[in-house]
Amino acid sequence: MKLKNILLSFGLCIVSLSTIQAQKTQVIAHRGFWKTKGAAQNSIASLVKADSIHCYGSEFDVWLTADDHLVVNHDGTFKGVKMETSTEKECTAIILKNGENLPSFKEYAKKAKRLKTHLILELKAHSTPEKETKAVGKILKKVKDAGLAARTEYISFSLHAVKEFIRLAPKGTPVYYLEGDLSPQELKKMGCAGPDYHINIYKKHPEWISECHMLGMRVNVWTVDSPSDMKWLISQKVDFITTNEPTLLQSILKGDSN
Ligand code: MG
Repeated sequence: MKLKNILLSFGLCIVSLSTIQAQKTQVIAHRGFWKTKGAAQNSIASLVKADSIHCYGSEFDVWLTADDHLVVNHDGTFKGVKMETSTEKECTAIILKNGENLPSFKEYAKKAKRLKTHLILELKAHSTPEKETKAVGKILKKVKDAGLAARTEYISFSLHAVKEFIRLAPKGTPVYYLEGDLSPQELKKMGCAGPDYHINIYKKHPEWISECHMLGMRVNVWTVDSPSDMKWLISQKVDFITTNEPTLLQSILKGDSN
């Protein structure tokens, strides 16, 4: 009986190991799927459209406003409005290219609740570490209250923000670092889920991809829009590719555009 159990556990290990290895590279839409009719970068429409084409995740950028609210936008200053020193009302009064108002994170999360795609939340580097810590706390509370904790992952160029997400988020929450200056071992030591680095970093250190996998981490890459780069990264078995061209990447993964 004992031997049977051992053999069974061994068999399950083999099955789970082969499942991990067989897992395909996943698609993350950079700032949502915005290169399509009716969408704009970081709009709610781009989130909905990323979900509609079944992307694994939809990436977006978050700022903390002067009155301590969270808004979704890439640039620190957009159409003359500086996110960090303006109110939520001033920020969300901005009209995006698709006619939508710049979204508050509250509205964004409300829409995300009805979707399936993962939220790849980038906290932008703010002017002080205190602001970033405050933003991390507010983000985690909103994500928890919206019931989105199980499918939200965090990324940042700010090492402080990354460390704060790791410290304050529920254990096991994926947190990735964007800057590209830390080795797999350093990321592992910090408790990161893995690197989310620019493709040029992996071209310089292709060995980091397998090193990350050996350390039990996952590898994300930004922002990859060319078919040859996509094909190289897929051959290197990266876990996620962040792209402005999610449908192109999907067709390459399916083998349609070789
Ligand atoms: Mg971003």
